[in-house]
Amino acid sequence: MTLTKLMNIQEKTFWLDTITIPVATAREFPQRVDVAIIGAGFTGLSAARSLARVGASVAVFDSQTIGWGASSRNGGMVLTGLKLPAATLISRYGKEATARMYAASLESIDFVEKLVREENIACDFARGGHLEVACKPKHFDDFRRSAEETSRHFNHPQRLIQKDQLQTEIGSAIYHGGLVDDSSAGVNPARLVAGLAHAAERAGAAVFEHAHVDQIQREGASGWKVATARGTLRAERVFVATSGYTSQVTPTLQKKIIPIGSYIIVTEVLPEKLATELSPRNRMIYDSKNYLYYYRLTPDRRMLFGGRAAFFPETSTTIRRSAEILRRGMLTVYPQLSATKIEYVWGGTLDFAFDIMPHAGQLDGLHFSLGYAGHGVAMSTYLGDKIAQSILENREQNSRRNENPFAQIPFPSAPLGLYNGRPWFLPFAGAWYKLLDWLT
Ligand SMILES: Cc1cc2nc3c(=O)[nH]c(=O)nc-3n(C[C@H](O)[C@H](O)[C@H](O)COP(=O)(O)OP(=O)(O)OC[C@H]3O[C@@H](n4cnc5c(N)ncnc54)[C@H](O)[C@@H]3O)c2cc1C
Repeated sequence: MTLTKLMNIQEKTFWLDTITIPVATAREFPQRVDVAIIGAGFTGLSAARSLARVGASVAVFDSQTIGWGASSRNGGMVLTGLKLPAATLISRYGKEATARMYAASLESIDFVEKLVREENIACDFARGGHLEVACKPKHFDDFRRSAEETSRHFNHPQRLIQKDQLQTEIGSAIYHGGLVDDSSAGVNPARLVAGLAHAAERAGAAVFEHAHVDQIQREGASGWKVATARGTLRAERVFVATSGYTSQVTPTLQKKIIPIGSYIIVTEVLPEKLATELSPRNRMIYDSKNYLYYYRLTPDRRMLFGGRAAFFPETSTTIRRSAEILRRGMLTVYPQLSATKIEYVWGGTLDFAFDIMPHAGQLDGLHFSLGYAGHGVAMSTYLGDKIAQSILENREQNSRRNENPFAQIPFPSAPLGLYNGRPWFLPFAGAWYKLLDWLT
């Protein structure tokens, strides 16, 4: 018998128990819109809000429901920076382009904070900072280099925490030091995506749930025919905001994105003293491995603990197995939780580009934004708006200066074209990353 059955763990997203996700307001299916958006997560809804606010007619379609994808399933860590270290980015893109992308990553958090304030979204947004913990002494040396580079090239401060000071940040003895960035924040993602849906609808966008987009076809020189499970319409522009759930409907994009599973467990509510011992400063925490763990306290004082317990996207089997794997992982970090009950387990799909960078621009005439690689809460909300601004710019409705550094970098396909959208290599990639974690 599996742990989930034995321990009566609910196989569902904890965040969804903190809010009733709104059902889209019923609207007549339109014949024609300015912009059709595929995907009702942070990316699609943020774009819909920005477009509708200046009077564009917008329809958002989701195969499932509002926020059904990664947007309601994530860890709620609103993180600074990009997934790759500064040195890698600079050697790949040069100092100037990297500085623009890094600045955008900081701006994305300000963007979410402003949006939450403007739209009055009760989503527990709090700038408590993040802590990265070093699994090996060498990783702490890497932190030192990375903090120095981030300060020198991007003028952004990060603080090193020596091993003997680490107990002020985390109630775990297994790490070799830490790196703190005070600009990161925490949020309840389901409340954020629900608030964003309300805001987009209030601005005039129409959201259609259970409306899988089956086909997108060019029609004439400047328009598209979009066939959905709820009807067919014409759109001047189409924005693909499908992240890790990108499918054959947009084959060129599908071949550029690897869908990777990520899994989370959440404990019962912890006594206040224990919660403070585990995370004295209530930071968003993640470790320095490739096959990493990420964890935080929830606003109601549970431990949320996530990781890549299986590489494949979520199925009921991978979710059930993950509960056991993640509980074991959590106890290596926090043996104090050995008697604590796990109450929730779930999984979701991340979207990795082959260069582990976000990409947002236009391909084959379609607008898109994806490739967030687990750093998408702030970036997706921000880039949704950026794509909206570029659509408006083309339609001369935009008075805002719109810079999107992620539209200017190359968006690579699989080496040697060895990928048709089915990630056959995931078991090998998983084994490779485990080996790297052991060796480096
Ligand atoms: C378990 C997990 C933990 C994470 N933790 C963090 C974190 O702590 N911090 C962080 O910054 N990021 C994190 N992320 C990443 C972050 O959640 C995502 O980057 C972000 O939510 C992407 O938002 P999105 O709107 O682009 O995509 P999604 O929210 O995934 O939405 C895509 C939507 O597209 C719809 N769709 C797909 N195809 C079609 C179609 N043909 N027709 C209609 N609809 C379609 C899907 O139904 C889906 O609802 C995590 C992700 C996961 C899975």
